[in-house]
Amino acid sequence: MNSRIPFVDLKQQYNNIKSEIFEAVNNVLKSTNFVLGTEVKRFEEEFALYTGTKYAICVNSGTSALHLALLACGVGPGDNVITVPFTFLATAAAIKYVGAKPVFVDIDNVTHNMNTDKLEEVINDKTKAIIPVHLYGLPANMERINAIARKYKLKVIEDAAQAHGALYRNSKVGSLGDIGCFSFYPSKNLGAYGEGGAVTTNNPDYANAISMMRNWGLDNQGSQVMDGYNYRMDSIQAAVLRVKLKYLDSWIEARRLKAAKYNNLFLNSNIKMPIESDESRHVYHIYGIQVQERDNLNKKLNGLGINTKIHYPVPIHLQATYKYLGYKSGDFPVSEKLAEQELSLPIYPDLSEPNQSYIVENILNI
Ligand SMILES: *Cc1c(COP(=O)(O)O)cnc(C)c1O
Repeated sequence: MNSRIPFVDLKQQYNNIKSEIFEAVNNVLKSTNFVLGTEVKRFEEEFALYTGTKYAICVNSGTSALHLALLACGVGPGDNVITVPFTFLATAAAIKYVGAKPVFVDIDNVTHNMNTDKLEEVINDKTKAIIPVHLYGLPANMERINAIARKYKLKVIEDAAQAHGALYRNSKVGSLGDIGCFSFYPSKNLGAYGEGGAVTTNNPDYANAISMMRNWGLDNQGSQVMDGYNYRMDSIQAAVLRVKLKYLDSWIEARRLKAAKYNNLFLNSNIKMPIESDESRHVYHIYGIQVQERDNLNKKLNGLGINTKIHYPVPIHLQATYKYLGYKSGDFPVSEKLAEQELSLPIYPDLSEPNQSYIVENILNI
């Protein structure tokens, strides 16, 4: 090895699509239409079509998408919103932004998504919405979550930031709840060349409110009809995303092949691998293994030139910033165990065969 194996490698991807990117970005530069505009509108149409929803509204990050989704659902101070403690900080932060209280449900030991057997236990009069996270790119148990939401008249907001293109019973994530939220952060499966996000929905009222709130709450006549934010998407990001969206399905297939190869090579080891159920298509934004001596393995791999990551070392209920909620160590044992044992390995369409073999050989050796 004469160079380290990166955790994410966007350079090769860029080289593959460079000429198309140049043209797309140059067209935006020539138009001098730098914010929202036709590029964003076109990408919204294409992304709605891709996710199988009526509307996609672009914003400046996945976090903003979650924030506006909660506002559109009317969630505010005094309300509870249920989510998992084992996710990226943004999922819970958005609940705080609207003044509501995050209520956590542990993840399932097999899928590492929301444990729907524990969901009803935490629903009360204050509960307004559920945010399932399609962790690592594997869809959550949406049938069960939607059934419980219907029973208690709750809204369902999918955090699909890691799962562009993932399928649940042949439907795309983002089309399964009331609202879907996506991130186009560069390292995500569909990544911009900067920050970006989108909201998807079939509900015209939500679509309308979200598209006004991302731009100061202004209507088409320029009147401020509600409070809003500067959450607009840059045209250059939309132009880049339009180029990349065409390749997303082939990139997902390549990721799935890499995941299948890892699975095969780890078959007779004591490594716990990610699972995929019959009813879903995992898009492997993250390929996370579970091992007993994670920190030791991690250190040795890094010494061998293999860059890894840990998603996530601290579950949200144990973060200092969530202490006020009153949770303690031991409340969500599956999340806490995964936080100690999870290790994310390099996975991307351009991960080379020799590099992947080198990673596996060293893990099995250690
Ligand atoms: C990346 C991510 C987000 C936030 O997206 P940003 O675009 O970084 O704001 C939210 N939820 C999950 C699960 C994520 O992985």
